[in-house]
Amino acid sequence: MTEATLPPDLAGAIRGDVLDASHPEYDEARALYNAMIDKRPRLIARCVDVADVIEAVRFGRESGLGVAVRGGGHSGAGHGSVEDGLVIDLSLMRGVLVDPGERLARVLGGTVLGEVDHATHAFGLAAPFGIISTTGVGGLTLGGGVGNLTRTLGLSIDNLVAADVVLADGSFVTASEDRNDDLFWALRGGGGNFGVVTSFTFRLSHVSTIVGGPTFWSLDRAAEILSWYREFLPNATEELNGFFAFHTIPPAPPFPEQFHFQKMCGVVWCYTGDPKEADEVFGPVRELAPDLPGLQEMPFPALNSAFDGLYPPGDQWYWRSDYVAEIPDEAVAIHADFAARLPTLKSTMHLYPVGGKAARVANEATAFSYRDAGWVQVIVGVDPDPAQVAPAKEWARDYWDGLHPFSMGGGYVNMLMDDEGHDRVRSTYRGNYDRLVELKRKYDPDNLFRVNWNISPE
Ligand SMILES: Cc1cc2nc3c(=O)[nH]c(=O)nc-3n(C[C@H](O)[C@H](O)[C@H](O)COP(=O)(O)OP(=O)(O)OC[C@H]3O[C@@H](n4cnc5c(N)ncnc54)[C@H](O)[C@@H]3O)c2cc1C
Repeated sequence: MTEATLPPDLAGAIRGDVLDASHPEYDEARALYNAMIDKRPRLIARCVDVADVIEAVRFGRESGLGVAVRGGGHSGAGHGSVEDGLVIDLSLMRGVLVDPGERLARVLGGTVLGEVDHATHAFGLAAPFGIISTTGVGGLTLGGGVGNLTRTLGLSIDNLVAADVVLADGSFVTASEDRNDDLFWALRGGGGNFGVVTSFTFRLSHVSTIVGGPTFWSLDRAAEILSWYREFLPNATEELNGFFAFHTIPPAPPFPEQFHFQKMCGVVWCYTGDPKEADEVFGPVRELAPDLPGLQEMPFPALNSAFDGLYPPGDQWYWRSDYVAEIPDEAVAIHADFAARLPTLKSTMHLYPVGGKAARVANEATAFSYRDAGWVQVIVGVDPDPAQVAPAKEWARDYWDGLHPFSMGGGYVNMLMDDEGHDRVRSTYRGNYDRLVELKRKYDPDNLFRVNWNISPE
């Protein structure tokens, strides 16, 4: 479709741009974080305000084109775009308004995590999000949101107070505990199934400077360190967070040269309590004499952006996730085996804790249904080179196959892949699935929003 044939009712109705393949910025606008996914949408509507989103939703409904909603574009499965359809692109709708008195932040639907950290940190405040600052608030929050503050403050959705939503019929509603509470329940974990969220309001907490960073040990201690970690963290103060990781040390500062390219195991810590107590809290960690002791006091946003350089947009990504309640010895042995075979420099395995405050919410209280999990376990094959996709995928699948019998059955909705099949969606929502179907019938009966982990109204 050339510019001359762009649908006049959409291009003329929105203040943002409508791009098709003839537009000079089309390739840049259609690019996704995961370069493995290459979709060519018919149209990209770069919305600048809620009125634009309403028009784009109307056009999507009337044109019959497949519709995808793009927040930060980080979906591993590429759900921020759609082949030959309409992308409702929120990437120009970015901004954060902090009310320090009320301790609230209003965040536009296309904002990325680092922008929220930056805006709230000025007031010594924060909300819990993920570990890479370029990830979109939209997708991460709608799937649940785990990260460096989960044990202390809960999931991102536990700090969500309200959401403004454009529904499939083009109407605009606010969802909160008091208004459209059924929709508010579904948005908290149900992904992009229920509408386009044009703004999120989050409750903020006093988090400013933290003590944290990675501590790494040589891989021959993997079984010992993981066995220690699975006991230590759940019993530690809730002010302490720490995700377990296998990594290859990148050949760059701040890592000492003797560790470059070494496969190691470690924990990335975040302690939000009184820094004077940090020595005591981290005592057991120091006793284990990490080879790379990276703990230091730092502004919270520094931790949340520490790995951005390692994971820029444009790499090939393939991941598999599961919720695990425990990490038994058999699973520890499988972890140690596959860690020794990390297929590329950037491939990794992370265990994000879902304990502490996140675990004090009932599974039925929000659509996110694995509050009883100990961890979100994610196995990630990553490399810039497309030639590495096959070995990275094979490693991730084999690793996941080995561990899946020790899992709780479902995977984290924000870390699934399209080749996993619809049954995964069901097992991911467990006892909440039927209610989600009911609400999908109410809010999106024609399944306009289906480029996601789809809860089909059928
Ligand atoms: C490098 C990296 C690090 C990550 N780290 C974490 C982490 O620490 N913790 C964690 O929980 N997850 C993490 N994730 C997973 C992340 O939560 C998902 O990839 C999430 O889908 C990203 O959201 P997005 O808005 O960037 O993606 P997009 O691809 O834009 O969107 C993903 C899905 O959400 C929908 N969506 C996005 N915004 C909106 C909106 N405003 N309204 C309605 N629907 C919307 C889209 O339609 C799509 O279905 C990470 C992912 C990557 C690639």
